[in-house]
Amino acid sequence: MRFDIITIFPKIFDSYFGESIVGRAVKDELIKIKVHNLRDWTDDNHKTVDDKPYGGGAGMVMKIEPVFKAVEAAKQAPKRRVILFSAKGKKFTQADARRLSAYGQLILVCGRYEGVDERVAQYVADEEISIGDYVLTGGEIPAMIVVDSVSRLLPGVLGKEESLAEESFIQEGYLEYPQYTRPEEFQGWKVPETLLSGNHKEIEKWKEENSRNVKRNEH
Ligand code: SAM
Repeated sequence: MRFDIITIFPKIFDSYFGESIVGRAVKDELIKIKVHNLRDWTDDNHKTVDDKPYGGGAGMVMKIEPVFKAVEAAKQAPKRRVILFSAKGKKFTQADARRLSAYGQLILVCGRYEGVDERVAQYVADEEISIGDYVLTGGEIPAMIVVDSVSRLLPGVLGKEESLAEESFIQEGYLEYPQYTRPEEFQGWKVPETLLSGNHKEIEKWKEENSRNVKRNEH
């Protein structure tokens, strides 16, 4: 799988993509991540990527021409998807991560300013994705989220110790049971006895009971 990220802040990605599971997947050539500076696709001396909005309004809008050129230049694999990040897009879920993991290439366009000329959504992107109902300053964190969540579904990316089989959202609404490790007791806070019992049948039952009704920690 190849990821092409189009951004005006290419350095943002260096640290995250150099570490941990994603970093290892890059090193092992299981995935390829190419970050493109949108400014390389401008024609003027100032490398302008934004302009004033038609009809007035606050802030600047990302121009279509550099985005179009960058996307066209990035296209490689025949089975590819061009994604524009946008707060008004479809909310990203684990099912989307699974769906996108079947492509050979994802081209991810990170917006900035007040947003991106709407013609990018209409004519350049295949889909618009939001990572949640809040507004970020740019599409770079959403791009990291998509790369991370899609990569870990690809064959060989997760090590043996990290399993996809039982984790949250494997089916819709499924949330994994709580996890504990040593010590058995800390500050009087105990690990559930069943998990220490060595009784595999009881442990499986406990996991099943505690996975369906798991409440997300909200504090
Ligand atoms: N004016 C826009 C609005 O009201 O929806 C917000 C623009 S935001 C400041 C700049 C860029 O950040 C967007 O073009 C998009 O690429 C990205 N962005 C912000 N929030 C996002 C979200 N929830 N999901 C995905 N991308 C987001």
